[in-house]
Parts: sequence; structure tokens; C-alpha cells
Amino acid sequence: MSTAQSAPALSGSARTMTDPDLVALVAKLRRSFESGVTRPEDWRHRQLERFQAMLVDHEADWLEAMRADLGKPQFEAWGSDYRIVLGAVEGALKHLSGWMKPRKVGSALVIQPSTARILPEPLGVALIIGAWNYPMQLAIEPAVGALAAGNCVVLKPSEVSPATTGLIAKLVPQYLDPECVAVVPGGVPETTTLLTQRFDYIFYTGNGAVGRIVMAAAAKHLTPVTLELGGKSPCIVDSDVDLDTAAHRIAWGKFFNAGQTCVAPDYVLAHTSVEAPLLGRLASVLREYYGDDPKQSASYARIINDRHFQRLQKLLGSGERVVGGEVDAAARYIAPTVLRNVDPGSPVMAEEIFGPVLPVLTVPDLDAAIRFVNARPKPLALYVFSRDDGNVRRVLDQTSSGGACVNDCLSHLLADTLPFGGVGDSGMGAYHGQSSFDTFTHYKSVLNRPTYVDPKLRYPPYDANKLKWVKRIG
Ligand code: NAD
Repeated sequence: MSTAQSAPALSGSARTMTDPDLVALVAKLRRSFESGVTRPEDWRHRQLERFQAMLVDHEADWLEAMRADLGKPQFEAWGSDYRIVLGAVEGALKHLSGWMKPRKVGSALVIQPSTARILPEPLGVALIIGAWNYPMQLAIEPAVGALAAGNCVVLKPSEVSPATTGLIAKLVPQYLDPECVAVVPGGVPETTTLLTQRFDYIFYTGNGAVGRIVMAAAAKHLTPVTLELGGKSPCIVDSDVDLDTAAHRIAWGKFFNAGQTCVAPDYVLAHTSVEAPLLGRLASVLREYYGDDPKQSASYARIINDRHFQRLQKLLGSGERVVGGEVDAAARYIAPTVLRNVDPGSPVMAEEIFGPVLPVLTVPDLDAAIRFVNARPKPLALYVFSRDDGNVRRVLDQTSSGGACVNDCLSHLLADTLPFGGVGDSGMGAYHGQSSFDTFTHYKSVLNRPTYVDPKLRYPPYDANKLKWVKRIG
């Protein structure tokens, strides 16, 4: 299978844009926003239609770019990047009118007569910084919400996935309004310069260390942020469980995109009574998915770059290998690997794994699993496999995570009715479906009072009688 080696270099370490270019670019978008061009529904609708065409006209190019970056199987690239973004655009086109409508609400007796409305208004110029692991989805799906909400957008896809970023940089100016949407295909120097500029919203996806840099830069301009971060998402397997389905779904969720998924089940906490049968089933499911030599499988992706390959290779030394462990540095291949007898203090449990290594730890009961989760930073996702509704409820009630999925992995992301985002160390803010529009919208509260009547009750001079009436009205 070809890997990221076939991806064209973005620009090596050379800068793609100079500081003055970047400053001028943001200023241009601000002028466009201030001209009011992005506000009408027509403009937004047109951009979304063009966005849809940018996807549909180039479906094969998008899939090929992700194969070049990550060796992504077509099935995975289509399902997890292409289709998700296309679904977001279709949803936005369908619901745009409704989302844009002012909402009438009631108002208190003391301020009658009046009408109260909530008016959605665009924020201004948004900066969207994407990550490499779902290089299409993470860079451009947030832009669907930003454009639907009537904003100008600077897109900064990840330099770590150069083929997809190159395609975004090529297609976006061809399809979207170049006065209002721009792509900056650079790395840290370009992003650092962009972050000195004033934006009206910053939407960042990536690791928490850079998330802190982004938030600190945003604070200088009081710019609100969404931080889509990661973390170690636990997967609890109860004693009363459909083991075969659990093994299929856990293995799929973990080894999809070779584990390079922000919501991948990072580790399993299995009830002691199911450890051995679960490990046995995981081993047979992996053979079923990827054959005896997963390296030959067209259904299995590669590690994005040498740095991540080396980082992951060090984690293979934790615990005892049940399955996998084989590596090929030249192909950046790491076999789907399952570990047991893993010490909670070992390297594989110290940081988000973000690769195809699954430690299976055991717990004597559900309370121990809940304690284990609560002793660590709040994860982006939590998975619980159980046939016992009471146990599922206990886990959901007694733990905190960005999202959760019961008896499955990853699929909560596909419900666009569910806002997707983290909590605590796994991030802040959310998107998908209407929450993407909400993220890039200011909901302006407006009270309108007619002048045909003007009761004098509130005006000075105050007296005991006025106070009595005010207290009565509330
Ligand atoms: P990355 O290396 O692509 O970096 C993310 C973005 O930050 C890039 O656009 C990059 O140019 C920029 N960046 C890097 N260093 C910077 C700096 N010093 N200053 C300013 N910008 C900088 O991606 P990554 O961080 O390796 O992504 C992996 C992490 O992201 C994991 O923790 C994963 O869980 C998380 N993630 C979260 C989500 C989510 O939706 N919550 C999705 C994907 C990945």
C-alpha cells in the first residue's frame, strides 16, 4: 500500500506567506465583512452550494489526497471525512433559512408593552485551525458553520497532512468567494503571525499544548474560542455484555485510521471476569478485519509521519503483547496491537496514544472503573459496553466526558443532532449540525418598546405608592 511518502511536500520549512501578506489578508477579509456582503441569505446559500460543488466535483481527488497523507483506505476517507463534510453542507443548505430566522420570545409584565426577539448575527472574521488526522473534515467542516452564519473565514489546515492541505489551498479559491474566504497552508510561523491578528472567533482542533497557545493569543483580543482537543478516552466493558459485538465495535473504533482518531477508545477497562474472553475475541476480530498480515491489508492506514511513528513505537514496550507489535519504519506501519497486564503508571497510559495500540486493563467492579476515569483529566469521549441499563446510567451519571456512546465507539459523531466537543482538558465549545451555526453566531437580544404608551411608574421622584406597585408587578 502507498503511504504518506507519495504526498507532495507542502513547502518544506519555507514559509508559504510572509507576515505582511498575512496581515494584509486578514485586513482584506475584515473589509469584506464590514461591507456587509456576507450577511444576506443569498450569499450564504451560494457559498454553501459552491462548497457542495467543491466536494462533489472532486470526490476522487479528496480521497486520493487522504490516501497520500495517511494511506487512508477509501472506505474510511469517504465515510469519516468526505461524507461527513458533505452531510454538513447538505444539512446547512436545508436548514439555513430556519437557523437565520429571528426568534420571538416572551417578556416580563414590568416591561409591557414590548416585543422581545433574538437576532442571529455573524461574528465577523473567523480563524479555523485544523489538525492532520482527519485532514479534510477537521479543516473544512467548521467552515460550513462559519459561512452559513455569514462570516469571513481564514482556513489554516495542518501542514502535517500536505496532500489534503494542498488540495484545500487549490480548490477553496476556485469555488468560494476569494474576497471572504482564504486558505493559509502554512505551519507554526504562519499560525503564530495569524494569532497576533484580531479575529472575531478562533476555532482550533489539535493538541492541548497548542490549544493553550491559541487561547492565550485569543485572550489578548478577547476573542472567543472553540478548542477541539483530545485525551485518553476510556472504554468500560462491564461483566454483563455482548462480548462478540463489543469486540467488533471496540476493534473497529480503535483501529479505524490506525488509531489516529481523537475519539478512539484509548484504553479498555474490562471487568476481570471478561478479560480473557474479550482478549480472545479481539484477536480473532483483528484477523477477520485485516487478515494474518495487516500490513498487506488495503483496509488499514499508516502512521502520519516519522515523529509519530517513533513516539508510538516506544509505547509498544508497555505491558504484555496479546496481538500485534510488528512495525516497519520505512512504511510507517504499526500492526494493530493489543496489550494486557498494563501498569497504569506505564508510558502507554501516560499520554493520549493516538495510534494503533490498545491497552486492556482490568477492574474488579464498576465503581473501580468509575474511580479510574474520575482520577484522570476529563476525556473527549467515554464508551461503556453493558447490557445492564442501571450500570450504564451509573457510568453516565458519575463520570464527565465531552460525549459518550453506549455499546458502540465513534458513532456518536455521526449524529448531527448531537453537539460534538470536549470538556475540561478535552476542550471547550462544540459543533456539528446546528451547533456549528450557533458557534459562529452572536445571538443578539433585542427588546422593542412602542411609544404610544409611557407609564410614569418607573420615573423619579419615587414614593411609597410607586414602590408598592412595582413590588406587585414584580
Ligand atoms: P497538528 O500537528 O496538525 O496541529 C494542529 C494545528 O495546530 C495545525 O494546524 C498546526 O499548524 C497548528 N500548530 C501547531 N503548533 C503550533 C504552534 N506552536 N502555534 C500555533 N499553531 C500551531 O495536530 P495535533 O496537535 O498533532 O493533533 C492531534 C491532537 O488533536 C490529538 O490530541 C487529538 O486528540 C486532537 N484532535 C482533536 C479533535 C477533536 O475534534 N476534538 C480532532 C482531531 C484531533
